[in-house]
Amino acid sequence: MSLVTMKSLMEQAVNNNRGVGAFSVGNMEMVKGAVQAAEELDTPIILQIAEVRLKHSPLELMGPMMVHAAKAAKVDIAVHLDHGLTMDTVEEALELGFTSVMFDSSTYPFEENIVRTQEVVKAARQYGATVEAELGLVGGSEDGSCDHGIRCTNPEDAKLFCERTGIDALAVAIGNAHGNYPSAPKLAFDVLQEIHEKTNVPLVLHGGSGITDGDFRKAISLGIVKVNIATASFNSLVKRAEEYLRSDGKHNYFALNEAMVRGTYENVKHHIEVFQ
Ligand SMILES: [Zn+2]
Repeated sequence: MSLVTMKSLMEQAVNNNRGVGAFSVGNMEMVKGAVQAAEELDTPIILQIAEVRLKHSPLELMGPMMVHAAKAAKVDIAVHLDHGLTMDTVEEALELGFTSVMFDSSTYPFEENIVRTQEVVKAARQYGATVEAELGLVGGSEDGSCDHGIRCTNPEDAKLFCERTGIDALAVAIGNAHGNYPSAPKLAFDVLQEIHEKTNVPLVLHGGSGITDGDFRKAISLGIVKVNIATASFNSLVKRAEEYLRSDGKHNYFALNEAMVRGTYENVKHHIEVFQ
């Protein structure tokens, strides 16, 4: 078992009729908790970090730790850059041994998104790495519904985008959003189904924290292969850390460390089980 490409994990997941969890990490405790859950359930996962997080968790520190944890794990693990915003960061991640990169140029006009994504695909291929890109805008609408049609991924555009860029995975916008939802979102399964029918790349669901277990399973049955989980892990870590710090007695760093590992572990474990 070892560090593998995200593409191979997604193929494996499709063959086994399940989704693969992509878990964001921001420190050593989160890396340990996520890997522990994956090993215990004997299920491959993706460890990832988004470019916006790098101001708190520098890539040159996190990257080698994530790559090493993947290599040493008892299950297959892919290491992925989430929402890469600059070519420099993408190159740095690839140099550090990340087996997958996402480049997010979804806020650019369609043609420019294609051109920028093509550039990333070209760079990643030299490393044998997987590429994920996004079309449509994840998040934004208050109730999470797809009423603001323009934000949802257009299935025809998705087809063209995948053909012209040669990407390995496509992040779709179907009413999902990043962060905490005010209430469970209403996902546009009809749009998802249409995108799935028109494209033949694995689809990615961002903003997984707060989506119901039933909706996860339905989304996976309609073409979602990779599911991103970040906020739920951060919340679970904070909850366990708070519980520890509010408990009686004298506190110490080592027990706090264990509480953070446990918080991440519990959330990752829950989601791996849901995606089976
Ligand atoms: Zn995202």
